Amino acid sequence: MTAKTRTELAVLGGQPAFLEELHVGRPNIGHRDKLFKRLGDLLDRKRLTNQGPLVEEFEQRLAEYLGVRHCITTCNATVGLLVAARAVGLSGEVIIPSFTFVATAHALRWNGIKPVFCDVDARTHTLDPVKVEELVNSRTTGIVGVHLWGRPCAVDALGSIARRHRLELLFDAAHAFGCTVDGRMVGRFGTAEVFSFHATKVLNSFEGGAITTGDDEIAAKIRLMINSGFADYDKVVSIGINGKMSEPAAAMGLTSLESVDGFVAHNKEMYRRYHEQLGGVAGVEVLRVAENERHNYHYIVLTVGEGAGLTRDELQRVLWAEGVRARRYFHPGCHRMEPYRAAEPDVGRRLPVTERLSAQVLCLPTGTAVNRAAVDAVCEIIRTALTRRAEVRAALANPSHALAWSVAGRA
Ligand SMILES: *Cc1c(COP(=O)(O)O)cnc(C)c1O
Repeated sequence: MTAKTRTELAVLGGQPAFLEELHVGRPNIGHRDKLFKRLGDLLDRKRLTNQGPLVEEFEQRLAEYLGVRHCITTCNATVGLLVAARAVGLSGEVIIPSFTFVATAHALRWNGIKPVFCDVDARTHTLDPVKVEELVNSRTTGIVGVHLWGRPCAVDALGSIARRHRLELLFDAAHAFGCTVDGRMVGRFGTAEVFSFHATKVLNSFEGGAITTGDDEIAAKIRLMINSGFADYDKVVSIGINGKMSEPAAAMGLTSLESVDGFVAHNKEMYRRYHEQLGGVAGVEVLRVAENERHNYHYIVLTVGEGAGLTRDELQRVLWAEGVRARRYFHPGCHRMEPYRAAEPDVGRRLPVTERLSAQVLCLPTGTAVNRAAVDAVCEIIRTALTRRAEVRAALANPSHALAWSVAGRA
């Protein structure tokens, strides 16, 4: 990951700055001795899954950390969302943002629910409550807000819309572990919230997730559902799925949880460094976080505006040529992915902010696998490319860059 002393941008014929590629979402790894100890113990116990002691401990520690009444771990957040949607009784139509990872939409559609895509606020990148209310109709049963980039939704405004129209309110909190709203920790909003502990998230259990809720009845329902509907030996009382977290996953989750405050401190330093170095650059903006709140600083979100001189996609190609795998999250938006596009080809017309953001946002590498020198090098590449935009544009138009094109096209 060491950046070499630069001579020339790679798109202009120089050597790539990073010989080992720099990725977005490289996993944060906690203390491996502690992980190996837990893995050794679980093998000795021969208890690999089915609500074993590590899952119990992980759920308890998460509930304490988040200050929630119930925390139910799952095999991943997608199944968590699937189960939460069913447990709270969503059906018909549910309002969600299109500017999110596609699992938010799939979890509803998998339950036979129609996701109704709503535009986001240009400043916060989360659901615009005014537009949410405009989409409520007689078929609407709920709202699923997404705390995108860990920046919490307008939870109070969405809460009052839900109450006014008697809708269920859930949150996809996949990005928001350890984030607060007015000092209140994410995990306590709506009827339930769903976290992801996928390897790319700030806290990981290899694959994993958790559903938090303050509702005893919903919690009991979810526990049944993720265990194939088994209430007791040989006794199935409802439709279920296998959504359980395994013991090795909980071992990793517990180990990550012990180190998560350190991961966040590192992220915050990288976040500040990106801001310092890109602050004065015309046309680009690093998304800000409210610094009076707790935040995990897990995503560095660059918006490449019209005044930048290069488009987001051009800048991405410049970075990929340097070995910096910046990502176009969440391009092109769920509404332009199948099966949603075919179902409603024109829905983009009511999503102007989503369409603009998905053309302008570029996520830059951060996390414990990225150090200060790497951030400095990434920022220097961006500044240099924008300063020399005419040359860069001409070079990118050259057919010999076809390879970089095709690679960037897969992002
Ligand atoms: C990662 C992610 C998910 C899915 O999480 P998994 O644990 O991978 O299933 C859902 N929603 C958002 C916004 C995500 O980023």
